[in-house]
Amino acid sequence: MANVNVVVPEGLLPVTVSPATTASSPMILYPPPRGGGAPAAASIKKKCNSPIEHAGGWTHVLVESMKASSPTHLKAVAALSTAVPAVEYEIDDNSAWMIQHPSALSKFEQLMIATRGKQIVMFLDYDGTLSPIVDDPDSAFISETMRAAVKEVAKCFPTAVVSGRCRSKVYDFVKLTELYYAGSHGMDIKVPEGTKYNKKKKAVLFQPASEFLPIMNEVHKTLSEKTRTIPGAKVENNTFCVSVHFRCVDEKRWGLLVEQVRAVLKEHPELRVTQGRKVLEIRPSIKWDKGKALEFLLETLGFADCQSVVPVYIGDDRTDEDAFQVLRDRGQGIGILVSEFPKETKASYSLRNPAEVMDFLVRLVEWNRLSGTN
Ligand SMILES: [Mg+2]
Repeated sequence: MANVNVVVPEGLLPVTVSPATTASSPMILYPPPRGGGAPAAASIKKKCNSPIEHAGGWTHVLVESMKASSPTHLKAVAALSTAVPAVEYEIDDNSAWMIQHPSALSKFEQLMIATRGKQIVMFLDYDGTLSPIVDDPDSAFISETMRAAVKEVAKCFPTAVVSGRCRSKVYDFVKLTELYYAGSHGMDIKVPEGTKYNKKKKAVLFQPASEFLPIMNEVHKTLSEKTRTIPGAKVENNTFCVSVHFRCVDEKRWGLLVEQVRAVLKEHPELRVTQGRKVLEIRPSIKWDKGKALEFLLETLGFADCQSVVPVYIGDDRTDEDAFQVLRDRGQGIGILVSEFPKETKASYSLRNPAEVMDFLVRLVEWNRLSGTN
C-alpha cells in the first residue's frame, strides 16, 4: 500500500474524536444549516472546535451532523421562516446569503459578458444537479429535457460530468457519449479518444486509487451484510467509493448505522468517511477529489495553462466544494452551488434546484448561438 494521506479541504470541519474508539479514520462533516437547525448545529460546531472527547464520541457526533443536515430539519426551518414573523431573521439570513451567492440566472448576462472571447469548459455534478434527489438512488433518472439540454451544451463547450457515483453508473444515467466522465468523486476518469476537444487524440483512463479496489469491494460486501437488518439502509458500490444511503432509514436507527460504518473503518484506517446529502461515503484517504479531477480534465483537454479558459462548475454537494476551491485558487471560472437553502460554500453563485440548472444550460446555449462564438 502506498503512503496515503488525509485530505481535509479548506473550510470543512474536521472532527477530533476519541483515539480510543476511532483508530485514525477522520471524517468531514456537512456544514450545519444556517438559522433554524441552530441548537443541534451550534452544538456540533462547538464540539468540533474543541479537541475533547464528548459523550457518545464518534457515533454521536456523526449522527448529530446527519440530523443537522437532514432535509426534514431544513424544510421545517423553511416552513417556519415563511409562517412565523418572529423568525424573520431566517429570511434576512437568506437575503444576506443571496447577496454573497447571487443566482447565476439573475446575473447571467454579466457572467456571459465576462466570458467573452474565452473558452468555457463545463463541469456538472449529477445527483441533485442534473437529476433530483430521490429516495432510491437507483431511480435518480435524468429527465429527457435535461439530457437534451446537456447534449446541446456539449455541442458548444467541452462538458464533463463529475460524480460520486461510479463512472459506468453515471454514464448509464446520462447516456451521452460526447461527454467526459469522472466517477467515484473524480477517482475514475475517462476521456475517450477522438473527441472534439481531446487535443491529445488519445484515450485517457485515470484511476489514482486503483490499488484500493479490492479493499473497496471488501468494504462494500461487509457493510452490505452488516446493514441488512437496518430497514431502508442501502449500500452502493461506486467502485472507489462505498456509499451508505440513510435517506430511508428511521432516524432512530442512524446511530446503529453509524456504528456499523465505524466498525468497518476501524479495520481500514487507510479509508475515510465523508457525509453528503443523506449519504455516508467511504473513500480512500488519498489526495484526490473533484477539484483535482477538474484540474486533471483541464490539463488533459489542453487548457491547463490557458489564461482564457473559464471552467464553469455546477454542483450541490459538500464534495463539490473541492472544485469550487480550485476555481478560487486559480482565480478563474464560475462556481455555482445548487441549493434551496443557504449553505457554507466556496461557490460564488447559486441555483436553487435542477430545474434552474436546466434553465441556465438552455440560456447558455442560446447565448452562445446568438454571440456566434462556436
Ligand atoms: Mg450532487
